[in-house]
Amino acid sequence: MAWYLTRQRLAKREKFPLIVELEPLFQCNLECAGCGKIQHPEHILRRRMRVEDAVGAIEECGAPMVSIAGGEPLIHPEIHEITRELLRRKRFVYLCTNALLMERKLDKFKPSPYFAWAVHMDGLRERHDASVEREGTFDKAVSAIRAAKAAGFRVTTNTTFFTHDSPKTVREVLDFLNDDLEVDEMMISPAYAYDKAPDQEHFLGVAQTRKLFGEAFADGRRKRWRLNHSPLFLDFLEGKAEFECTAWGIPSYSLFGWQRPCYLMSDGYAATYKELIETTDWSAYGRGRDPRCENCMAHCGYEPTAVLQTTHSLRESLRALAG
Ligand code: SF4
Ligand code: SF4
Repeated sequence: MAWYLTRQRLAKREKFPLIVELEPLFQCNLECAGCGKIQHPEHILRRRMRVEDAVGAIEECGAPMVSIAGGEPLIHPEIHEITRELLRRKRFVYLCTNALLMERKLDKFKPSPYFAWAVHMDGLRERHDASVEREGTFDKAVSAIRAAKAAGFRVTTNTTFFTHDSPKTVREVLDFLNDDLEVDEMMISPAYAYDKAPDQEHFLGVAQTRKLFGEAFADGRRKRWRLNHSPLFLDFLEGKAEFECTAWGIPSYSLFGWQRPCYLMSDGYAATYKELIETTDWSAYGRGRDPRCENCMAHCGYEPTAVLQTTHSLRESLRALAG
């Protein structure tokens, strides 16, 4: 990543992707109330992205990392081929999954330093099963994580927090993932209030998010957890740093094309990353600019800003290396 950032700077490229959120389908085998992805009509939910379209989009934009999301990617019959083609091109791939199909499909994938599972884990058993609205999902995810680790895969997790979380529930789930399951790294995010999500009541505001993470991170825990975020982004989550959104750094490519402006919001689509960059008014988005962005502290908008600020500062670079 450091080499990639240096090359962008040498090429005087102002806007470039760090990670692409690739959505090769919208269908899922769960129906979480907070989800804004599965609300499309049936004929859209049945569509699958072609391998060549997925690979072509990543090659065109040049991103070094890809996060394959959805929907549930493991429903896609060619997901292992999309993954294999991206790995062949030395892209780092995170395969996001709710883990219901993970153990059954594990043998379609091979461990690689360029590949990591990213398992959706919203809390401990009761909390996670309530969040995804299906009993037994937590146990299946834990079993799949153990099987993947035993098979030599790198396993990360992705946890979304809502208003019914407290510093205690944040600590409990991160302690469990860090110490008991010993996953390689963990990602965390306050939930974003998608327009289309059926549950609109449980999304955190900015002040609530800062209070939640500020209290959860206290007593040195933040340093102990293997969090897959830059120190500056974690500062941002707990209110110690303020950034502007740079959504162009983590763009989203789906069945409809490049989504404007980000993974969370849709103001139309572009056919290429170049068109997305050149025809989007980036200054119109972010908190204080667009009311839909007001409560957003998601990593797809603010982690790129944190990463870019880190690489511009020797002190922050050393802190990131140490963390
Ligand atoms: S598992 Fe993910 S994609 Fe599936 S319904 Fe839940 S939030 Fe949506
Ligand atoms: S703040 Fe940025 S990442 Fe968040 S919804 Fe707005 S444009 Fe998207």
